[in-house]
Amino acid sequence: MRKLSLAAALLTASAITTPALADGHLRIVDEPLELTIQMNHARYPVYEESWPVEQAARELTGIHLINDTVGANMRTDENTGRTEALNLMLASGSIPDIVGSSRIRDFVNQFGPEGAFIPLNDLIEEHAPNIAAYYATRPDIEAAVKASDGQMYYIPYLPDGKYGRAFWIRTDWLDALGLEMPETVDEYEAVLRAFRTQDPNGNGLQDEVPFFARQWPELIRLVTLWDGRAHGSDTYHDFMIEDGVIGHGYIGEGYRDGIANLARWYADGLIDAEIFTRGSSARDFLLSENLGGSTHDWFASTSGYNSLSSEIDGFAFEAFLPPASPSGRRIEEHRRILVKPDGWAIGHTNEHLVETIQYMDFWFTEEGRRLANFGVEGQQYEMVDGEPIFTQEFLDSGPVNRNLYQVGSQLQGRGYFQDYNYEIQWSNEFALEGIALYDTMPDLLIEDFLGVAFTAEEQAVYDRTWGSIRDYMLERQQGWILGNGDVMADWDAYIAQLDEMGMQ
Ligand code: CA
Repeated sequence: MRKLSLAAALLTASAITTPALADGHLRIVDEPLELTIQMNHARYPVYEESWPVEQAARELTGIHLINDTVGANMRTDENTGRTEALNLMLASGSIPDIVGSSRIRDFVNQFGPEGAFIPLNDLIEEHAPNIAAYYATRPDIEAAVKASDGQMYYIPYLPDGKYGRAFWIRTDWLDALGLEMPETVDEYEAVLRAFRTQDPNGNGLQDEVPFFARQWPELIRLVTLWDGRAHGSDTYHDFMIEDGVIGHGYIGEGYRDGIANLARWYADGLIDAEIFTRGSSARDFLLSENLGGSTHDWFASTSGYNSLSSEIDGFAFEAFLPPASPSGRRIEEHRRILVKPDGWAIGHTNEHLVETIQYMDFWFTEEGRRLANFGVEGQQYEMVDGEPIFTQEFLDSGPVNRNLYQVGSQLQGRGYFQDYNYEIQWSNEFALEGIALYDTMPDLLIEDFLGVAFTAEEQAVYDRTWGSIRDYMLERQQGWILGNGDVMADWDAYIAQLDEMGMQ
């Protein structure tokens, strides 16, 4: 008990005692142990030792993470998949004890077998009973995490739930213009054109932005409206699986046709002129300024913008089913994947491997998982009938996800198992109605690509070719939409170039 008191003395005043602290069953080390961490994510550039969640984890485990992030201003870019910060860290010659990042899988599966990261299979089996118990129920996910040598090199972020993103539209604008909810891509185009030309916000200006997106790859996803494919999982530009065969959306004819149509939409002003540069504030800005008409974004967080009806008369932003393609097919390409390429790994110079894997296992315990999902009891949530329930004060304090990142919860640079109950609690009636609408169409969701374990030879081919192939595809994609070149005329040369680069 003496050591527990010592640990308690290190706490901030805001931290509160939990039942777990009382018996210390989550304690990993008697004396506080410091481990360094690199953590990169688009939404939080470094690991903050002051996060209330970090403080609580210190109290419970005795492990203190010390921020040692290189390249904090070079965040891993979710839009392009580039991992400059991780490369900079590697180039610096010093790898912290723990490395957490979005898009970490390819990185550690390349450099882990070369010795830069610790293989985790035996450590998990011997010292991480909660992680091992999870994998015992999901061998498919364990397989998806493994590198070419059969080893796991990172503990992943495991999302929970079914639907992710949906199509959204200003239904009060539809009403204002006497339009019906679009059911096909042609009707969708007509609606976007009317938003552009018929002044649905009623200010006498042609200032509406018909389609916008916080992440520009969501524009590319619209190729599904012409039977193309964009992202094979909820990782942008990922490979896809179709009829049991691995392929890529960006070499398909549906993609080609979709890009041709999107270029036309862009030229006609149906798409945000700043789609590639406006960034993550696009939704917040364009909706609160009464300018944005339609997007493709997450159910829970997007539904929350309906509170703008208190400022914008009649404001209603509602989910609608993916419009049918010319062949009559409706798909929702985005869904919550079972395992993300995000999470954390152990650097090769770490001298406390057992304690580190035990610490990673802590986040898979009941108490750790609650901390990772809901924040700190008494601050963000209270226990009600045995369930963590966000306080009304917390829910009213602004965007829930943003506020959770700011206390150190829901960090995708940490390996943890999400609990969908965290999101249900702030899904309003617009989200729940949208989910019910999507549920009316059981074939809407399609198969996700979970990843594969390459052989060493395959991994070498991938590491040598994929980065430059991806960059070339993205460069051409953006150029075509902005009107630099014509995708139909350029297509054969594009495919030939990809073949030369090793795409096949
Ligand atoms: Ca207007």
